[in-house]
Amino acid sequence: MAPIRSRAAVAPIRRRPEAVRAPLMLPGVSELVAADRPAEPMHCLRPATLAAAARRFVGGFAGDVLYAVKCNPEPAVLRALWAGGVRHFDCASAAEVRLVRQMFPRAQIHFMHPVKSRPAIREAYERHAVRDFVLDSAEELEKILQETGGAADLGLVVRLAMPKGGAVYDLSGKFGAPLEEAVALLRAARPHAVRLGLSFHVGSQCLDPAAYRRALALAGEAIRGAGVPVEVIDVGGGFPVAYPDVTPPPLGDYFAAIREGFAALGLPGARLWAEPGRALVAAGTSVVVQVEARRGDVLYVNDGVYGSLSDAGAPGFRFPARMIRPEGGASDTLRPFAFFGPTCDSADFMRGPFLLPGDIREGDWIEIGQLGAYGGCLRTAFNGFDRARMAEVRDQPLLETPGHAEEVAAAA
Ligand SMILES: *Cc1c(COP(=O)(O)O)cnc(C)c1O
Repeated sequence: MAPIRSRAAVAPIRRRPEAVRAPLMLPGVSELVAADRPAEPMHCLRPATLAAAARRFVGGFAGDVLYAVKCNPEPAVLRALWAGGVRHFDCASAAEVRLVRQMFPRAQIHFMHPVKSRPAIREAYERHAVRDFVLDSAEELEKILQETGGAADLGLVVRLAMPKGGAVYDLSGKFGAPLEEAVALLRAARPHAVRLGLSFHVGSQCLDPAAYRRALALAGEAIRGAGVPVEVIDVGGGFPVAYPDVTPPPLGDYFAAIREGFAALGLPGARLWAEPGRALVAAGTSVVVQVEARRGDVLYVNDGVYGSLSDAGAPGFRFPARMIRPEGGASDTLRPFAFFGPTCDSADFMRGPFLLPGDIREGDWIEIGQLGAYGGCLRTAFNGFDRARMAEVRDQPLLETPGHAEEVAAAA
């Protein structure tokens, strides 16, 4: 069993903050596997894909694009997004704020967790020039005002709760003020804010563009109810990507719904923000695992739900997969397989199905795609399986999302 390391077991790539290597100079995934025969999971990062997704979003969205750092805080990922034009970052902890500030002295950092620790607020304001803070309660407003010493340059964003919607991950249960409270909070925050905003999150992997239009209409009710001017409307994250059984509407449909919903509010002086996570980074990383045993249609692989495949477990996301057998000669017939991960916990199970050659066997490698979002960053040290390697590669993603493909092709 591998020795247990504490954090950052994924070998980091160190480089100048803004430098991203030309994709053609990078190796391909299959070459790397043939040369290195990795016996630990290998995260394969696609800088060109990440930069293209960033360019697409920044170019198409009619406002500021705040990358939600929690989705993938890997420095090489942040560098590629910066290269693609992202200049704003949605951070949710002191550690995320520190990381972004250390990498990008000129970045605009927004502290978008509705329940923050007092030292985190202080550090963000005093040491990292963070001015925008989100809140969803009177207590949090009080906390922010106390810890910033009644500063005269605060941006305060009230998070509005959403009714349960059509997203795969509903986020309405934990954060957000119900309409009446949001109205009161907008009024209470107004005198303390140079920039007052209203934000929401429709839920992650939202498959219905109209959810943003409905959320904006609710935001309009809150603003009219409060009767105070608002400078920022933050539509949050939730923008989806493709998975093997899900093809979402094109990103452009979401941008159009938001443009319409925003125009209907009649707030000519206000600015739009978005906080995409998944849509910027999902296609940008795959993970290569090795088969350690086959029992019928179940493969025992060396990464699992306590590693980078958390969403393939209980949440039941399906991911694209392909076999890599350097010596060649695989069966043409694809069959459905389920995976067990490497830990001794029977919950370390991924039902898939993952479609792979029927003759797959011990020693073969499998590349699993769309794992750039909520993948590697969820890796734990449970049972001694925290180790993974990382490589930057030139490959295209395993799966294209509508509206992303043309820019990726142009970038590669
Ligand atoms: C997680 C999160 C995001 C990113 O959500 P995606 O669904 O990955 O786009 C954005 N904003 C907030 C406040 C979040 O908690």
